[in-house]
Amino acid sequence: MTERAERFDPRTYEAGWRERWAADDLYRADDDDPRDKHYLLTMYPYPSGDLHIGHWYAATGPDIVARMRRMQGLNVMFPMGFDSFGLPAENAAIDHGVHPAEWTEQNIERMRVQFRSMGCMFDWSREVVSSDPAYYRWTQWLFLQFFKAGLAYRAMAPVDWCPKDQVVLAREQVEGANRVCWRCGTPVIKRDLEQWFFRTTRYADELLDFSKIDWPEPIRLMQTNWIGRSEGAEVDFAVEADGVAPIRVFTTRPDTIFGATFMVLAPEHAAVAALTSDERRNEVEAYVAAARRETEIERMGAERERSGVFIGAHAVNPMTEERIPIWIADYVLPGYGTGAVMGVPAHDDRDYAFAQRYELPIRYVIMPRGGEVPRDGAFLPHTEDEVLIDSGDFTGMAAADAMPAITEELAERGQGEAAVTYRIRDWLISRQRYWGTPIPIVYCDEHGPQPLPEDQLPVLLPRDVDFAPTGVSPLQSHAEFLAASCPVCAGPARRETDTMDTFVDSAWYFLRYCSPREETQAWDPVAVMRWMPVDLYTGGAEHAVLHLMYSRFFIKALRDMHHLDFDEPFTALRNQGQILGADHHRMSKSRGNVVNPDDLTSRFGSDTVRCFLMFIGPWDQGGPWNPSSIEGVHRFLGRVWGVAQASGGHPRMVPGMPPAQSLAGEPPGSGGAAPDTVAAIGDGSRGLRQAAHRAIKEVGEDYAEFHFNTALSKLMELTNALGAAREDGLAGADAYAEAVDTLLLLLAPMAPHISEELWSRRGRPYSIHQQPWPEFDPVLVASDMIELPVQVDGKLRDRLVVAPGTAAEEIERLALASERVQAYLKGRAPQKVVHIAGRLVNIVTPGE
Ligand SMILES: [Zn+2]
Ligand SMILES: [Zn+2]
Repeated sequence: MTERAERFDPRTYEAGWRERWAADDLYRADDDDPRDKHYLLTMYPYPSGDLHIGHWYAATGPDIVARMRRMQGLNVMFPMGFDSFGLPAENAAIDHGVHPAEWTEQNIERMRVQFRSMGCMFDWSREVVSSDPAYYRWTQWLFLQFFKAGLAYRAMAPVDWCPKDQVVLAREQVEGANRVCWRCGTPVIKRDLEQWFFRTTRYADELLDFSKIDWPEPIRLMQTNWIGRSEGAEVDFAVEADGVAPIRVFTTRPDTIFGATFMVLAPEHAAVAALTSDERRNEVEAYVAAARRETEIERMGAERERSGVFIGAHAVNPMTEERIPIWIADYVLPGYGTGAVMGVPAHDDRDYAFAQRYELPIRYVIMPRGGEVPRDGAFLPHTEDEVLIDSGDFTGMAAADAMPAITEELAERGQGEAAVTYRIRDWLISRQRYWGTPIPIVYCDEHGPQPLPEDQLPVLLPRDVDFAPTGVSPLQSHAEFLAASCPVCAGPARRETDTMDTFVDSAWYFLRYCSPREETQAWDPVAVMRWMPVDLYTGGAEHAVLHLMYSRFFIKALRDMHHLDFDEPFTALRNQGQILGADHHRMSKSRGNVVNPDDLTSRFGSDTVRCFLMFIGPWDQGGPWNPSSIEGVHRFLGRVWGVAQASGGHPRMVPGMPPAQSLAGEPPGSGGAAPDTVAAIGDGSRGLRQAAHRAIKEVGEDYAEFHFNTALSKLMELTNALGAAREDGLAGADAYAEAVDTLLLLLAPMAPHISEELWSRRGRPYSIHQQPWPEFDPVLVASDMIELPVQVDGKLRDRLVVAPGTAAEEIERLALASERVQAYLKGRAPQKVVHIAGRLVNIVTPGE
């Protein structure tokens, strides 16, 4: 071996292997492959410009698993694409005068090159770009299907508006207690606009069912809370005003209705104007105007003092038949339940504070069985052991029984019914921006909004538009785009100028990967049946109630329209953590703590960067960047380089087929023991084999569990064991060669280049990435076995593998029973057996 060959320099081989893999289409997923399919997907990125270290982190984990699954014999599809519509492209156009399409294209081109430099096994032949008309015509087609199914509709609605981005936001895009824009952090304001919605609420109940998917608990919890299902009853309270219908309230506690001493309406409630008495009108109108200016979160804030105004009217409690005053208060929201609640101050903290402040009656109607009601606040516990008091015919009934009993009584009287309410609202998808999928609707003066016929798709975005942010879509000033004809009367019509939320694009891209070049339909049903659902999906947890919920909604809706035949898009989900800057803060240009992966790869090579990222900590937790440890990881790969070449040229071992006879020398008379084999007996090649087989088991398990950091630790241990074995002169042993091959195969998913290079240098067949995953020998893996050398007359002849604590007599019996020992004893009884517990057994033969 030459000096040059010994030197570890990834720059000499990494790019070459990537070119060869690409030229050979090594990672192309074949639709017709008869093996079991495995669809592994990482969230496609927004083409923001440069691949940052976070992209590397997010992609390396699933790439490792994809590569292992491939070696394990699955037909793996691991595609990549770009979520390429969205605001940043449009902002770049405003700020720098470059067209969003050009900006996007340049970024994608750069990111493709950078992604390729990672050595991921992406199947680029399936690339999907959501701003490509060949893609978005099908996004438009999907909109039409939703429209026809009654799942897309238009309505005037108060919407959240980002004054900086000049755009409407979905509820899911408004973040935090101070309600800021998810993208720019600007506090949002309310506006009333005609908007398009998808009817996500129709699937609220089914979206709460996670029984068919393996998703992280925090994501399931966030979706559950977001959907916010509450069971209870709706109850009608008659009002004392001519021509005003009873007011329907929603309550989760119908068992407390006898304690309802007032009613509170949302200031926006439709009945407020009709019910307000003349003498209260000025005060009520002022309060309503103030409430409308506030955000929901301001109104819902826990620490805020509850304010309200009596409107000068009364309702009748249907159970007590008492007159109760009607108030308006901003803590009641128009969108939740019916926008009206019954005030039960004895059993609700908020109502209690309100009653205290405005001196409204407080009446306790529930108490602990056999106990006393605390009279200094609301009595809240809601347990089995509560009974009703002061509740007419229901007095003495267990509260749990009173819930359905009172609901039933109200239903019989026609004054209420059991009801469920949800926090989730329909998905607002209209965006008043240019760089998105145009909504395929035209407006006719006579026929109103009309869906375009499918053969008129795609509605193409015009290139020549003016990007000044005006609060309306730039498309509104584009005469040619605006002009359309009504599909009903063929008369002149105006085209819809809003574009779709980019989360519509990403709610189905994983379907498109199954047949990305399909021109006549959104997807080929056979290909979708072949690949879907996605077996394992990875991405950021920040998409919990956005992309991840929208995608589930899409699949369920398309299933009900008979376009698909499964219920969930992503069978398993894993979320990566975040790589922080060295200062433990989120990486950002403004902090100057962004790490550029290109600099690192040119210094250390891609494998080192991949391994280092996986070594930072548990993949689902991320951690701060510590550039000093990247050199340690680089040195580790250097050690792999060294130990792997120490046994170059040795005959190939077949991993998973342990060479059972490699341990001991041949007994006398059968040709004699080769010197290196005898040495192997004495130098613990069993220990090396044990280390290799344990690594097979543990690294495989760690990869499957996304525990890449511990997997790497085990690969380091195996490398160290090889280093020690080499020092002991074992480099020529079969066990050494097997352990090196094993190390390379296990390392291949994490460090695909060096493993391929060393595999090739060892004369193994191309490609290491097409080799079967090694199998471990369970006996070797059993960790509680110890190994004892067995000597005959001071010379190593065999090894015993026994459980710790095996009795000395049993060990001596096993040693004497060994065929190899018997070959030397030649039927004679031993003169002496020396047994040094835990160290060795020496059998002394009788003299000749
Ligand atoms: Zn914003
Ligand atoms: Zn018309």
